[in-house]
Amino acid sequence: MPQLQTLFTPEEIKLAVKRLAQEISRDYQGKNPLFLGVLKGSFIFMADLIRNLDMPLEVEFVALSSYGQGMESSGKVNVVQDLRTSVKGRDILIIEDIIDTGITLSFLLEYLQCKKPASLKICALFDKASCRQIPLPIDYLGLSVPDVFVVGYGLDYDEKFRHLPGLYLLKE
Ligand code: 5GP
Ligand code: MG
Repeated sequence: MPQLQTLFTPEEIKLAVKRLAQEISRDYQGKNPLFLGVLKGSFIFMADLIRNLDMPLEVEFVALSSYGQGMESSGKVNVVQDLRTSVKGRDILIIEDIIDTGITLSFLLEYLQCKKPASLKICALFDKASCRQIPLPIDYLGLSVPDVFVVGYGLDYDEKFRHLPGLYLLKE
């Protein structure tokens, strides 16, 4: 049986999400940003983040796959489900659960840049900076995570553990 060790409690995550919401609402005053969640992992973060925001905004999702079923990135990114909203001229804020190698988001940045948004920024709840292979500008960062495989708060292992309220280190 896999063992779970708590890295961040639900309360610690809640505080980080609140702080990110404050930073975002300060920067997007008078705008109507499109929050673009990267499925599946970001769905819980997206839901909590936007409920901390009292401002106009819209929500869209894109599904990208790079991990398959395992614990390591395959290095190749596929668009599994494309967005259905026009990005042109919009203020796009990418909502990502966790950044590891940076391969997924650098692909998405390039993919979106071609569609000529007015602005393009990244908000990531968790960051494994020591794993980065492609440097990325993270405009809004929640919490730093060491080089370990984590689950909970939207993040899965083989589609399990997404519903857990904290962030946990998965030990085989
Ligand atoms: P990257 O392309 O930056 O290496 O990986 C980004 C994606 O891989 C994230 O959106 C996330 O879905 C997945 N990922 C990266 N690290 C972890 C991890 O520790 N746990 C889980 N469950 N997914 C991860
Ligand atoms: Mg994932």
